[in-house]
Amino acid sequence: MLNLQNQARETFNKPLADCSNSEIYKILLDFVQNESQKLPVNDSKRKLYYVSAEFLIGKLLTNNLLNLGFYDEVKEELEKHGKSLDEVEEAEHEPSLGNGGLGRLAACFLDSITTLGLNGDGVGLNYHFGLFRQVFEENKQKYKPDEWLGEPTWLKKSEISFNVPFKSFTLTSSLYDISVLGYQQKTKNRLRLFDLESVTGDIIHKDSIDFDKTNIKENLTLFLYPDDSDREGNLLRIYQQYFMVSNAAQLIIAEAIERGSNVKDLADYAVIQINDTHPTLIIPELIRLLTTEHDIEFSEAVEITRNMVAFTNHTILSEALEKWPLEDIEEVTPIISEIIEQLDQMIKSEFSNYPKVHIIDDNDVIHMARLAIHFGFSTNGVSELHTEILKDIELHDFYKIYPEKFSNKTNGITFRRWLMAANPELTSFLNQKIGTKWHKDADLKALLDYQKDEETLDELKAIKHDRKVQLKNHLERTKGVKINPNSIIDIQIKRIHEYKRQQMLALYIIYKYMDIKKGNIPATPITIIFGGKAAPAYTIAQDIIHLILCLSELIDQDEQVNPYLKVLFVENYNVGEAEYLIPAANISEQISLASKEASGTGNMKFMLNGALTIATFDGANVEIEELVGNENIYTFGRISEEIVDLYENDGYDSMYYYKKATIKPLVDFIVSDPMLEIGNKENLERLHNDIKYKDYFMALIDLIEFIAIKEKVYEDYENEKVWWEKSLVNIAHAGFFSSDRTIEEYNHEIWHLDN
Ligand SMILES: *Cc1c(COP(=O)(O)O)cnc(C)c1O
Repeated sequence: MLNLQNQARETFNKPLADCSNSEIYKILLDFVQNESQKLPVNDSKRKLYYVSAEFLIGKLLTNNLLNLGFYDEVKEELEKHGKSLDEVEEAEHEPSLGNGGLGRLAACFLDSITTLGLNGDGVGLNYHFGLFRQVFEENKQKYKPDEWLGEPTWLKKSEISFNVPFKSFTLTSSLYDISVLGYQQKTKNRLRLFDLESVTGDIIHKDSIDFDKTNIKENLTLFLYPDDSDREGNLLRIYQQYFMVSNAAQLIIAEAIERGSNVKDLADYAVIQINDTHPTLIIPELIRLLTTEHDIEFSEAVEITRNMVAFTNHTILSEALEKWPLEDIEEVTPIISEIIEQLDQMIKSEFSNYPKVHIIDDNDVIHMARLAIHFGFSTNGVSELHTEILKDIELHDFYKIYPEKFSNKTNGITFRRWLMAANPELTSFLNQKIGTKWHKDADLKALLDYQKDEETLDELKAIKHDRKVQLKNHLERTKGVKINPNSIIDIQIKRIHEYKRQQMLALYIIYKYMDIKKGNIPATPITIIFGGKAAPAYTIAQDIIHLILCLSELIDQDEQVNPYLKVLFVENYNVGEAEYLIPAANISEQISLASKEASGTGNMKFMLNGALTIATFDGANVEIEELVGNENIYTFGRISEEIVDLYENDGYDSMYYYKKATIKPLVDFIVSDPMLEIGNKENLERLHNDIKYKDYFMALIDLIEFIAIKEKVYEDYENEKVWWEKSLVNIAHAGFFSSDRTIEEYNHEIWHLDN
C-alpha cells in the first residue's frame, strides 16, 4: 500500500518530515485518486440522478481516506514523521459549491447513496468561484471571489460534452467528474459537474464579485446564484438553470440508451430527484428532447417525464418559492417557454376553477413548484412538521388533487463525515462502548446502557474538552483569534437570515452583557460563536452581522466583562469550519421562527456530537425532542400553529413586545452610545427600526422565554452529572438522523433502485 516516505522522496526529492502540508496534500490526493480509479462505477440498470444547483461537498481528503479504509494508517504514518492530518487538510481548498443546508444535504446524500451500494450520481454545475468568500472589514461583511479551482484538484475532465440551444446561440458544455466513494464499498458513483470552456475570471472587476452579467458565454458558470436583485441577474440564473438541466437531461438519456433503453422505457432506467425547484426546467427539457430528438409524441413524452421526476420541497418561505416571468424564460429559451405554456394549458383545462394550481398565473408568472408537482410523480417535504405544513396549508390544493404523490423524508447527515471524520475521539469512544456496527447501521442506542455510568460520563466530558482545545488551536492557527477552552461553547452557525433569528441571540448577548456589568458573574465563562454568510442583496441580514461584530468588539474591549463572556463571529463559515466547531460545542442554537425552518441539518450534527439543543418547535427539532424526551432538550417559544395563525390574522405587533420593560432596553442598546461609537449608524438604526416597527420574523415574541431558557441551560451546565448524561442520551438517539436511513426511505418509497 502507501509508503508516504518513499512517495515524498519520489515526488519532492526530500523526506516526508521536510515536506510542506501542501506537498503532503498533493501526495495524498494522488494516492486517493489512484485508489478510486481502481473501483468500478456502479452500472446496475436503474439509476438515480440527483440534480441540484448546489453540492456543498466540503474538503474531500479525510472523508475519502476514511471511506477507502486508509484513514488510521495515514494518520499514524504522518504522526510518526511529525505531521498532522488535520493540518495537511487545511492545505485543501474547500469548493464552495453551495449556500447552506440544501447543498450540504445533497453532499451527504451522495455519500449515503454510494455507501448503500446504490447506482446514483449527482449532477450540477462547476461554478468557478462558487459562492463568495466572506471577509469582515470594519465589522461588515465583504465579498471576495473564492478561487477554489487550482491544482491539485479532485476534478477529472471527461470526454462528454453536449450542445445547449439558447434563443440566439448554442453553447457546448464540458463535463467534469468527481469520484464519490462509499464507506467500504466496492463500486463508486460520481458527481457530474457541467462547465463551459469559454467562461473566464478575467471579466470580474478586480478583487470583487462584480462582473458583466450580460456576457453569458464568459460568465455562465462563474458564480453560484449571482445576485438576483435585478433583471440581468435573474436572466443569468435562468441561463444557468437551463444549461444545467439540458446537460443533465441529455446525459441521462444517453446513459440510459447505453444501458439498453429504447427511450420509450426511459423511466425504467432513470429516476431524477430534483433538489428544490432550481432544476425544474428539466421537465420541459426532457419533453423537448423526447419529442424533437427521439420521435416521441408530446403526450407520451409528458407521461415518460412524469414517471421519472421526483421533487423535494425545501421551504415554505414565499420569497424562496421560485417564480419566473414567462417573458424571462422566453428570452432565454423560447422552445421551453412554449412547452411550459402547453403544460399550463393542460392543467388549466383540467382544473379551471383552481387558480392556485395553475402553473402560469394571471400576471404571466411561472410557478416552478407547481410545474414540478403536476409533472413529477412524487413531492416530499424534509421533516414531519414541514411535510404536514405543506399538506395542510402551503400546498393544500395540490394535496387534495394528488394525495398519493406526497410523502415525508426527514433529512439526515452522513455519520462518516460528521462523526467519524470530524470527531475521531468520539468515534473511538463509541467503538469501545458499543462496537463498530454503527458505522454502516447507525443505531447508537446501546450507549444508553452507560447513561448512569460516571466513568463513561467523565470520558465524554474529557472528549469535549479535547475538542475545545482543538478548536482553539485551529482558530489560532487559521484565523489568529483566541478562545478559552474552559468556557461553555455555545454556537449558532447557519446562513444569516431573519427567520433563523440570529438577532435573538444577539439580544440575549446584550442582556448578558448588562447582567455581568451589574455584577452577576457566570459560574463558567461563556463563549458564543456565530458563523454564516448573508446574501449580498439582503440588507437586514448584513445589519445583523454588523450588530454581532460590533457587540463582539464592545465586549472584547470591556475588561469588566471579557473574562466571562466572549462573542466570536467566525469568518467564512463553511463545511471545514463546521467540522471543527460542532465537535467542540456544548450548546446548539436552533431558534428559528416555528414553521419557517423546513428541517435543519445543523441541529442533527450537533446532537450527534453531544451538544444540547436550545430549540423552537420547528423542523426536525420536533423529531429530536420526540427521540430524546423533553427533559433532554431545551425547547421554548410559540408553536407553528400559533405562528401561522398570527400571520393569517395579522396578529403580531412588534411594538407591543418592544415596549415591555425587559425588552426595550435590550433593543434600544443597539443604538446606544457605546454601540454607535463602534458601529455604523445607518446599519444599526435600520436594524433597530426594523425590530421595533416590523420584526417580520417575530424575534421579540419569544425573547423573554429565550432568555429564561438560556439562563437555565447555563445553570444546568454546572451540574455535571446531569449535563453529561443528557449529552450521552442525545448521542444515543441520533442514529435516526443518519442520511443512510433517509436514503433507504427515498429508495424504498420513491426511487426503487436495485442493489
Ligand atoms: C449543515 C450545514 C448547514 C446547514 O445548517 P442549518 O443549521 O441546518 O441551517 C449550512 N452550512 C454548512 C457549512 C453546513 O455544514
